[in-house]
Amino acid sequence: MTVVIDQNEKDRRAQQRHPEKAHRPDTPVQRKPEWIRVKAPGGREYTSTESVVREHGLHTVCEEAGCPNIGECWTHRHATMMILGDTCTRACAFCNVKTGLPGLLDAGEPGRVAEAVARLGLKHVVVTSVDRDDLPDGGAKHFADTINAIRAASADTTVEVLTPDFRGKAGAIETVMAARPDVFNHNLETVPRLYLNIRPGARYYASLRLLDRAKDLVPDGFTKSGLMVGLGETREEIMQVMDDLRTAGVDFLTIGQYLQPTKKHAALDRFWTPDEFKGLEATARAKGFLMVSATPLTRSSYHADADFAELKAARAALK
Ligand code: SF4
Repeated sequence: MTVVIDQNEKDRRAQQRHPEKAHRPDTPVQRKPEWIRVKAPGGREYTSTESVVREHGLHTVCEEAGCPNIGECWTHRHATMMILGDTCTRACAFCNVKTGLPGLLDAGEPGRVAEAVARLGLKHVVVTSVDRDDLPDGGAKHFADTINAIRAASADTTVEVLTPDFRGKAGAIETVMAARPDVFNHNLETVPRLYLNIRPGARYYASLRLLDRAKDLVPDGFTKSGLMVGLGETREEIMQVMDDLRTAGVDFLTIGQYLQPTKKHAALDRFWTPDEFKGLEATARAKGFLMVSATPLTRSSYHADADFAELKAARAALK
């Protein structure tokens, strides 16, 4: 089954959700190739996941970013929690999360996330957030509070965090790592040459340093990062990024296809083929990543629970 998308409706909503993008020239959204096919959202388990999210007043990146995998993931009760509100202070050109001035921090959110995780019975949960450059610690303590609340409610659940760069704020990464997430993830998203257009509020080397520091702080924890392809990067540039990530000690690399959310978002350069993804995976494994997921529909949190089990097994096999 395929998801039917009303592109005009998406474009209209984008104008309201991304005021900073309204003045951009339109770039038509290209038709997806036949290898990008997803399960339509719906069914009993999907609705049950949705109810838990709504009842706890939570946001998920699955919905806010318009993730194509939501039909599959929510059917398996895998929802990726998005904390620190639903409004991002950055304006990345690829991202569909709402931008603007966020409201006050919701101190009850960590507890509600923990309750929802327990209700969903998750073995492994991914917690991400919007960027909160307005907060003195970038939201680091809220991440730590959320990790601690999940552990208190579900002692056996492993926790993966996918954080912003905290704009290098003093003590932020130390605060998050002190809560000892099982996996620390921060996405580089793209190659350094494209940062100014694609991630204008971020700096490539600041993101690399964050990953390096996370590994220094908790050497026996796992670190993870992700890239999108299809924005105009070359294979050689991706290989350089892989080398940079290995130098920073990153264990797990995800690579997925960029899908342009609306005509106001960054233009798609091209769709990489499934065989090209296999080639990227083989190259990344040869460079020494413990775990690599590279397919057109790979996203940071896609199959994160099964991948975490593989990641642990891969490290154990080295001993
Ligand atoms: S891949 Fe991640 S963001 Fe997308 S639906 Fe699945 S859990 Fe949500």
